[in-house]
Amino acid sequence: MVSRIIPVDTFDLVIFGGTGDLARRKILPGLFRRYRSGQMPEAARIIGVARSDMAADDFRQQIGQALEEFVEEGKRSANDIAGFLAHLDYVRVDAKGTDGWGELKGKLRDEAVRAFYFSVAPGLFGDIARGLHKHGLAHDETRIVVEKPFGHDLESAKELNAGLAKYFDEHQVYRIDHYLGKETVQNLMAVRFGNILFEPLWNAQFIDHVQITVAETVGVGGRGSYYDKSGAMRDMIQNHLMQLLCLIAMEPPSKFDPDAVRDEKLKVIRALEPVAKNDVVRGQYVGNDAVADYIDDVENPDSATESFIALKLHLANWRWAGTPFYVRTGKRLRARMSEIVIRFKETPHSIFGADSGSKANELAIRLQPNEGMDLRVTIKEPGPGGMRLVDVPLDMTFAEALGPEASEVPDAYERLIMDVIRGNQTLFMRGDEVEAAWAWADPVIAAWEDNNDKPRAYDAGSSGPEDSLALLHRDGRRWREIKV
Ligand code: NAD
Repeated sequence: MVSRIIPVDTFDLVIFGGTGDLARRKILPGLFRRYRSGQMPEAARIIGVARSDMAADDFRQQIGQALEEFVEEGKRSANDIAGFLAHLDYVRVDAKGTDGWGELKGKLRDEAVRAFYFSVAPGLFGDIARGLHKHGLAHDETRIVVEKPFGHDLESAKELNAGLAKYFDEHQVYRIDHYLGKETVQNLMAVRFGNILFEPLWNAQFIDHVQITVAETVGVGGRGSYYDKSGAMRDMIQNHLMQLLCLIAMEPPSKFDPDAVRDEKLKVIRALEPVAKNDVVRGQYVGNDAVADYIDDVENPDSATESFIALKLHLANWRWAGTPFYVRTGKRLRARMSEIVIRFKETPHSIFGADSGSKANELAIRLQPNEGMDLRVTIKEPGPGGMRLVDVPLDMTFAEALGPEASEVPDAYERLIMDVIRGNQTLFMRGDEVEAAWAWADPVIAAWEDNNDKPRAYDAGSSGPEDSLALLHRDGRRWREIKV
């Protein structure tokens, strides 16, 4: 496979929160990889902004260390790092103050694409948007990139949207959901809409159910106090799993164009039915000798926040009526694995007899680890002995099918940042999508909060609470195992 690096226009990318964890771990290593692949224009500039008083050289040194830490060995050389750091600059700006904006403005060029990445707490989004406007740093084509969490509920999401809309038009706002930047997620669209094979079967008549699992092995780590106010529903379902569900369930857009795609996703969210109480299972992990209990991790013995959630969802439309979508996500589970499973229906009649071994087709789309797709089909078991059937995988792991370069797919962040520079919003959430997702999630959350429902305990290293398994068992179905 020949890799195709599509050049981008030269840019000034300003990262508010340039010294923070996300910038050091994801954004700058992602940009470094783009630099190394030859995609970063000679004249591109990346300007870190934060509150600390720091010389540009010190910032470069800090980021150099971050690259050593977060870019795999063998994918960085001292030369590459030095070359990349030469693109970096630093300006001290307190988003809430008046200092530094003028200096920052002086560094920006009229002829370059101008983007501001808000890698700071959402409480500062409004201040930065106002500051950029007031100090004359933004023009009509300036782009802003905002991070999750985009709101805590519908009301706060509306406030955030309104705070940005005062100064920026929707076509300038890039709300990141890094799940949409994953290669496989985009491949889901390629598979659905680039083949004739799947789409005719892609509905309730032929699909029995859909499963989406995002399982993590880590606990809440250092984010305990933030996480305890949020929980798995707000932190993962409302945004990431909802976005995946949209791409599976949406109607074919008329073209692969930002608004055409996002219009279709919005219709999916709006078609979600209210969730029945017994279709929600929440859990909280209990530790063991090796790891702490959730309540100790968050230092809140009375916490009723879920570190795991499973839901059975229904879409009220012609395509999907009758096909449930089971979604689950949690921390401290058995393996780190994200996967979408499309389980097709059994053949209406088996000419080979009931015990011939025929199984329903299954398409599994793995987001991690080993991104790829796996379609299980039934064939005849080779050899004599009559017509015995087996189901075998048609494995489509990219690295195997397309050669080793395909395993060098860009990380979600680097792809999305380059989309910002190109001005392509297709893989970013529109404001109305985010609000619709909260409008759906809020009553689900209110239902358990109003009842003071406590999450069920589950063992660290397990597949989640027993009840989440029962959510499928009672329908005569089962989850695919959480395993690598
Ligand atoms: P962080 O606390 O590590 O960094 C925050 C940055 O903001 C620092 O550079 C700090 O100097 C800067 N800052 C704080 N107040 C400022 C002010 N008044 N003016 C200018 N700069 C100021 O946070 P983080 O983990 O990097 O997260 C940044 C954002 O990204 C948050 O909204 C977070 O929720 C989101 N996010 C983080 C991660 C992650 O993995 N860290 C993942 C997803 C989303």
